[in-house]
Amino acid sequence: MRKMWKLFNLIFPSRCPSCNRFTDSLKHAPFCTDCWQSLTHNPDIKRCRTCGIALPSDYSFKCITCIKERPYYKKVYVFGDYDGALKTAINLLKFEKVRRLSIPLGELLASLSLPPVDVFLPVPLSKERLILRGFNQSHLLCHILSREFSIPMEPNILVKPGDIQPQSLLSRAKRLKNPKGAFSVIMSDRKLLPDRVFIVDDVMTTGATINECARVLLRAGVKEVYGAVLARTKSE
Ligand SMILES: [Zn+2]
Ligand SMILES: [Zn+2]
Repeated sequence: MRKMWKLFNLIFPSRCPSCNRFTDSLKHAPFCTDCWQSLTHNPDIKRCRTCGIALPSDYSFKCITCIKERPYYKKVYVFGDYDGALKTAINLLKFEKVRRLSIPLGELLASLSLPPVDVFLPVPLSKERLILRGFNQSHLLCHILSREFSIPMEPNILVKPGDIQPQSLLSRAKRLKNPKGAFSVIMSDRKLLPDRVFIVDDVMTTGATINECARVLLRAGVKEVYGAVLARTKSE
């Protein structure tokens, strides 16, 4: 396979977006093997027990935001910080539409040890945004998690009827307000609702999106909501 890839590179040279060397593997192209292997989950980073943000002190357990107001979700599991090669890979998937990166990125997320749940749910995109992007990156990651953990995914329980401005374009105050009322739960028979769910997303900034998803899911009758995200911004 490596020989084939080298040959492919001779014809269509592709360089690793992190170190600028030639790409040497199809598995996580365009990233080279060294850069991709540097993407590891570091359990020694002290993170908020609830929202997963990196904490400034080894003696803290929760961030100020979670202490002031407990989120609706129980805990968000974070693979890494939104930085370096991880940030580049997520942006290539999302904005440059390098869709194949969802497989190795999903496998990174699946390398976390997650508690057992009944179902994985992707953070939904509105129809308008789905048409613009062509795919929902959370859905693609969710698919890999579902395969790796042999737990079903259910993309139709949590929906986003109207569009709202992307979180990245808003100020922090607006970002926190923005998702209110943006999501709905569709389940005609409440008895069929799962008890424990994982909401899956690529990046978590303020946590307002996952919190709003958790709020509507709990209100609908789900008992416990967890989050799994590839990357957490270092500060809100
Ligand atoms: Zn590289
Ligand atoms: Zn927190």
